[in-house]
Amino acid sequence: MAVDFSNAVKTDDGVQVNGVLMNQIVEKCDGCDRIQEFEGGKYCGTYPQPAVKWRLGVCNFSTHMKAAPAKGKTKVNPLKASKRSAKGGR
Ligand code: SF4
Repeated sequence: MAVDFSNAVKTDDGVQVNGVLMNQIVEKCDGCDRIQEFEGGKYCGTYPQPAVKWRLGVCNFSTHMKAAPAKGKTKVNPLKASKRSAKGGR
């Protein structure tokens, strides 16, 4: 569902598409294929508020970066770990 910038209008508040205010992209968006330019500004063609997409990690719509796998080592299931140590731990 791409944002259609042919409907974009410049208002006092900023650029709006179909009444939705578009925020400009953030630094981390650089290199993404979804970036659209309008009147000298750069906007995301998929999401009106790019900064929000990066607040919780890598933007899930980005084409230039993949969401990082969960941090650290594979999680150990505590129940299985305790069973394992019960078996071998004499
Ligand atoms: S899809 Fe994500 S990374 Fe790409 S321009 Fe939009 S907000 Fe930025």
